[in-house]
Amino acid sequence: MSLLVVGSIGIDTVETPRTRKENLLGGSAVYFSYAAAFYTQVRLVGVVGKDFPSVHRALLEARDIDLSGLEVADGETFRWVGRYRENMIDRDTLEVDLNVFGNFDPKVPAEYKSSEFLFLANGAPVVQRKVLDQLPKRPKFVAMDTMDLWIETARGDLTALLRQVDALVINDSEARLLTGQQELLRAGLSILDLGVPTAIVKKGEHGALVVSRHGHFAVPGFPLEEVIDPTGAGDSFAGGICGYIASTGDTSPENLRRAVAHGAVVASYTVQDFSLEALKRITRSDLDARYEMLLDLVRIPKS
Ligand code: AMP
Repeated sequence: MSLLVVGSIGIDTVETPRTRKENLLGGSAVYFSYAAAFYTQVRLVGVVGKDFPSVHRALLEARDIDLSGLEVADGETFRWVGRYRENMIDRDTLEVDLNVFGNFDPKVPAEYKSSEFLFLANGAPVVQRKVLDQLPKRPKFVAMDTMDLWIETARGDLTALLRQVDALVINDSEARLLTGQQELLRAGLSILDLGVPTAIVKKGEHGALVVSRHGHFAVPGFPLEEVIDPTGAGDSFAGGICGYIASTGDTSPENLRRAVAHGAVVASYTVQDFSLEALKRITRSDLDARYEMLLDLVRIPKS
């Protein structure tokens, strides 16, 4: 079943303690789409400038990502520069140029309007809302992401939107910032109090804690010997989750467990190289094999 996503499409510069890479394809909607496309048909709504390289467009098209909702506006593409600290977890944003993304007024093409699954990737809550509002029928499952910038500058719009979605995918530090709660379980429960039925709290290399009205569960991160670039881990994690749910059409609490494990698996590939490089090299069967390894990792005998 088809999955609609709106979010940023950008050109990133990433600095790790060992390397600096410029002009990488990035953006929340890009990582999300590429990850979700392993599982289901993805439709993208976003904006780029006239400078957006055609090779990037071709890369997305090669995975059958529907780009009829990709607007090419006068001006430059969104740009982001980030630097990772020695621990390869904490990062500083050195530069953000919203460019055409700053004036983005999303238009959902007519053929996207019946999408049954929707992900509102990181972006301004007013922009996220405009996409939801353009769908004549509420999708079967709506999830969203957000970040510290919007929690600090658009809290009212954000909390209003939270009441309209089924799941919030959020970093541990941002869950704390949003709720004022230090303990992650409490932060998750406070997110439920804001009106979201499910909070998926990301803990970087440690996986995720899922807090929901149907009970809580945890999924570990897939252990890796080396992380090359953590950028996009969160977006591809969400892409794996939503892609899997859309591919099965099953929004049950039981299936959410499988979906979150798939999210952890795709994210583990993302961080093994810059941009989409590692994801470009794999197929769905690589993901399924690593999924089995993840299940084995948490297999504990009852007695
Ligand atoms: P993640 O590592 O999953 O948090 O996502 C990283 C991606 O988010 C990068 O590719 C950036 O281009 C994108 N990004 C950074 N800041 C913003 C922002 N303010 N709005 C939307 N996307 C952003």
